[in-house]
Amino acid sequence: MAISPSCKKCNKVIESENINVAADTAYCSECHFIFRLSDLLGTRADSSPKENPLRLPPTMNFTLEKTGESSFVITQIRTGSKLGAVGILFFAGFWNLFLVVWTGLALTASVFFALFSLPFWAAGIYLLYTGINQLTEKQIILIDYDGITVKKQRKFNPVNLFLRFSEIGSVSFEAPSILKTSTPVISQRGVRVKIPTIIHNGGMVQFFETALDAEKNWAVEFLSYIVEGKQRGL
Ligand SMILES: [Zn+2]
Repeated sequence: MAISPSCKKCNKVIESENINVAADTAYCSECHFIFRLSDLLGTRADSSPKENPLRLPPTMNFTLEKTGESSFVITQIRTGSKLGAVGILFFAGFWNLFLVVWTGLALTASVFFALFSLPFWAAGIYLLYTGINQLTEKQIILIDYDGITVKKQRKFNPVNLFLRFSEIGSVSFEAPSILKTSTPVISQRGVRVKIPTIIHNGGMVQFFETALDAEKNWAVEFLSYIVEGKQRGL
């Protein structure tokens, strides 16, 4: 097939050795981004090859960057929780403003009376903490020769965890460990939500909590494929 797609970012013509028709991918050796071949050619092939886990993320909420022979960077560039975070911060603003007024009035009566506001202050501060963390959060998964790094960049309690492939048991779906994540997980109709999880020697780390189901499936498939390949010594 005589095809010569060019890179969306730098317009460089992508060499045939960097094109995988079966996987529908084209890799630009100049800027290291992987594109959907059908996107570049404008021939939107609808066959998503499920047997090839190295396919691209299913939505534009993630980027997959190839940074070396067997190294990748997955970045969650958009999360569905931003709007929720703004809502939480709005609510926190009203809540705390009300508390300032209430506590001020109570103090004019007695200090003892004002103490009743303490649990409400704790809740108000927790709301602020949650809202700011959700708003500032950006998750990145780095895959390199030796292992996987899970990064959660956010204002409070950021995560930067490197795991060697030899330490990793599996990548799978697990129930949320609410206490470890900044983002509350909403379960629909009481169904336990499953979160992408890397199980390792020292416990487990969860990621992409707020992603869509298709995105979570993709991430787990992709990382499982990498981990299993590494552990077979590929
Ligand atoms: Zn390029």
